[in-house]
Amino acid sequence: MISESENIVFNLSEGEPRFVAQIKELGGEEILECIQCGKCAAVCPMALAGFPIFNKKLIQAIFLGAREALLDDSSIWACQSCNRCTEICPRDVRPFEIILAMRRVAVREFAVPAMSVEGLKSLYDVGHAVYLKDSGQTRQKVGLPEKPPSVIAFPKALKELQAILHQSALWEIGIIPMEGNEMADTCEV
Ligand code: SF4
Ligand code: SF4
Repeated sequence: MISESENIVFNLSEGEPRFVAQIKELGGEEILECIQCGKCAAVCPMALAGFPIFNKKLIQAIFLGAREALLDDSSIWACQSCNRCTEICPRDVRPFEIILAMRRVAVREFAVPAMSVEGLKSLYDVGHAVYLKDSGQTRQKVGLPEKPPSVIAFPKALKELQAILHQSALWEIGIIPMEGNEMADTCEV
């Protein structure tokens, strides 16, 4: 794993011609429209926080075919899904979609940080990527229902979510469900 303070050096001789095509196929259809103007980087929270591969750099690295360097770096998982980059891009590249496409590549390669794996398992189990087991008591103490009004409070919705995740690469590669917690037979959408 590359630390936030390290510079990443790309070896141009290791370019992979099919990489751009794969990113396009996985949701980053407009990547070739990027002119590297840097507007997306200027508004990106993860760039401001010092992560080395933020939106503009990710696109550049994909152009360069730096697949292995990207799989070794965890910056894409620091994206806050704020969509500022998509709103400001003058070329409708939708950089956030390219972050998501790169995440899909990483999942297929098992290059997912441990913390994110736990979040994905939690998403499958309760419908929240981050959920504190004992938060129900705290919520009740301040007069709130034990469960928030989201998927976790609606068993049918949770089963629908699990059925959707069942059809994803997460299931195929065994990230979900959690060990010993098989999906119920009744999961249907
Ligand atoms: S704002 Fe758009 S065109 Fe400019 S670098 Fe970002 S993705 Fe590329
Ligand atoms: S969506 Fe992600 S990549 Fe885009 S500006 Fe927000 S944090 Fe940065």
